[in-house]
Amino acid sequence: MTGETKPKPIKDPDADLPKKEWCHPVRSPRVVSDDFAEHKARKSLDPGTDYVKGRGSVVRAIHRGVVFVADRNPDGAGGRMVYIDHGHGLVTRYLHLSNIRVRPGVRVLAGTIIGEVGGSGFGKEDHYGDHLHLSVLRDGVHRDPEVFLKRRLSR
Ligand SMILES: [Zn+2]
Repeated sequence: MTGETKPKPIKDPDADLPKKEWCHPVRSPRVVSDDFAEHKARKSLDPGTDYVKGRGSVVRAIHRGVVFVADRNPDGAGGRMVYIDHGHGLVTRYLHLSNIRVRPGVRVLAGTIIGEVGGSGFGKEDHYGDHLHLSVLRDGVHRDPEVFLKRRLSR
């Protein structure tokens, strides 16, 4: 009998990141309206994952880091948004918020509440249906947030 071929585990390009202290950005149940592939298909400039949540639902930092953007002006495509620098070349972005609870320079932990879900963008509170858009970038390259988080949270 020839040896069975075991399926090769898919290499995690982010295996060097800290093993602990990761958190989902929104509470369960997490319903995805547009996933990473859908964002890529419509050539989104900031591809990520859209989680449907009611307005005012809390949004949490997925890992410890330092807030470097907390933009309360809803005029841009991303509406009100928070960017966090986690070190290791890792940055996360949280878009379309209805409220922001942090300021630039603030240190956060995994699970720290940074804002509230909304639909802000292009100067309106409800330009989009209420949802959280999460982007994950490593060294400037967008990663699929669902795959990224699943790997971090399952080990
Ligand atoms: Zn989106």
